[in-house]
Amino acid sequence: MKNEKLLYLETFGCQMNVSDSEKIASMLGEIGYSLTESHEEADLIILNTCSIRAKAEQKLYSLLGRFRELKKRNERLIVGVGGCVAQKEGRRLLRKVPFVNIVFGTHNLHLVADMVSAAEQGHRLVHVDFIDNDTRLDLFPKADGGGAVARFVTIMQGCDNYCTYCIVPYVRGREISRRSEDILDEIRTMAANGTREVTLLGQNVNSYGLKSPGECDFPRLLHTVASIDGIERIRFTTSHPKDLSPSLVSCFAEIPKLCGHIHLPAQSGSDAVLAGMERGYTRGDYLAKIEALKKARPDIQITGDIIVGFPGESEEDFQQTLSLLREVEYADQFSFIFSVRKETRAAGFADTVPYREKQERLSRLQQLQKGITLERNRSLVGTVQEILVEGKSRKGDQMFGRTDGNRIVNFTGDSSLAARIVPVRITRAFQNSLLGELQNEPGGGIHA
Ligand code: SF4
Repeated sequence: MKNEKLLYLETFGCQMNVSDSEKIASMLGEIGYSLTESHEEADLIILNTCSIRAKAEQKLYSLLGRFRELKKRNERLIVGVGGCVAQKEGRRLLRKVPFVNIVFGTHNLHLVADMVSAAEQGHRLVHVDFIDNDTRLDLFPKADGGGAVARFVTIMQGCDNYCTYCIVPYVRGREISRRSEDILDEIRTMAANGTREVTLLGQNVNSYGLKSPGECDFPRLLHTVASIDGIERIRFTTSHPKDLSPSLVSCFAEIPKLCGHIHLPAQSGSDAVLAGMERGYTRGDYLAKIEALKKARPDIQITGDIIVGFPGESEEDFQQTLSLLREVEYADQFSFIFSVRKETRAAGFADTVPYREKQERLSRLQQLQKGITLERNRSLVGTVQEILVEGKSRKGDQMFGRTDGNRIVNFTGDSSLAARIVPVRITRAFQNSLLGELQNEPGGGIHA
């Protein structure tokens, strides 16, 4: 083991990248790197990137520009780029930014420690090959949870859906499910180390196992995870609406540990736009699944993603999306302007919507969602919610945790409450969080 060196690790984008960054930190910990929050004092800077929107890619190059000065001051500083932009750019990145030492793609995470060791010896390396067999998931070190109350667990990678606007299949590769026995082992270890909540991660968890002969499907995996002692809450993300099966919907009625929240991205409320996106469902199909979910778990919280300004989206199409928001009553929504990714088929579609119009639609949509979110948050005032306490809140004098439906709640309490599920009466509602008071009913349920 070498002397301790400092790693500055910045993560862009999705929860999958957050999970990958945890693995990168763990692997680099094995060769003597510990995390720092200051890039100024780092010996190694790793940027774990996202390329889902053009803006995220621009952010990488602007950050690298800032690090040029650091590299001038400290020639021994190692700079590495991983994730989706690294996958897409590959060797080009080394040419564009001469002080970058290593570039590793989305299938090459397991090589990162060896690559950094080689960079310490003055080498510059690129590894962006896809490994198209299921052993690559075994190459990832199993996480032990590190004592964290809530952890992500990757159960699959890649995507076979090729929605016309999306770059993910090109930068994450074809869909591969990790072996269930490895997933369960990892979760058992996490539970033994204090983890109480796991979020099962994948680009489309609903299709987990379906392409792996002999493997269980996603509903069966959920039932098995629920049987692990110590795990009290289970979440999952992301779900593709077309693959949300009746047996998965039933899990919300059958598995008490499965939290009452689902992220189910509709992307649009218009059938014409959904057809252009090749999402594989209609607005009617989507709403039927929402109805089934609400039947299985009446208090379920639904979040989603919407893309505004897809090529050819008319005002009428957009109105359909606004009405979908009202009909579903989403707890929250991630919404974006359509971002052209030149690798995708939608890049060849005639883009008839002026950019100012797209901005205006996004703002109308976000205003509507803000109102719905606040109204839903306000409806919780006066109720007692079970909160899994995750730690001290940003304000420092409060603790924070999440409701079963994934709303953040801050309340007065001390650190001894961490990792416990406690009843908290909601006293105030804000746009992005709730405020509450701890109740003297340890283990109590939800009361109106
Ligand atoms: S389902 Fe569609 S949007 Fe989601 S990752 Fe796959 S291609 Fe992208």
